[in-house]
This record gives sequence, C-alpha cells and structure tokens, in this order.
Amino acid sequence: MSEDDLYARYMAARTVHRGHRADCGRCTDTGRCPAGQTVFESFARLQDAYLNRQHQQRR
Ligand SMILES: [Zn+2]
Repeated sequence: MSEDDLYARYMAARTVHRGHRADCGRCTDTGRCPAGQTVFESFARLQDAYLNRQHQQRR
C-alpha cells in the first residue's frame, strides 16, 4: 500500500466517522451504537497505521 493510499483511506474513514457521530444521536464519547462501533474501529485502525508510520519516518 502506498503512503498516499493509506492517508486517503485514513481521511475517508475519519470523514465517515465524524459524519456518523453528527447524524447518529446515540454515539457519545463513552458509548457507541453498533454501526458507530464498526465505523470507529475502521477509523482507529487506519489512524494507528498512519500515525505509526509517521512516527517511524521521523526517526
Ligand atoms: Zn451511532
């Protein structure tokens, strides 16, 4: 996977996650609906992958 591809997927997942939070009404900082949990997990996984690689590149 190229760097731009990972970044694009991370940004897309973040947009989906924020959109869900804005529309859902059931998701909060402490609890998520099942759909929100799925969206959050894919966002968190991509964010971790992206930030880990950023960290490694600065070494
Ligand atoms: Zn939700």
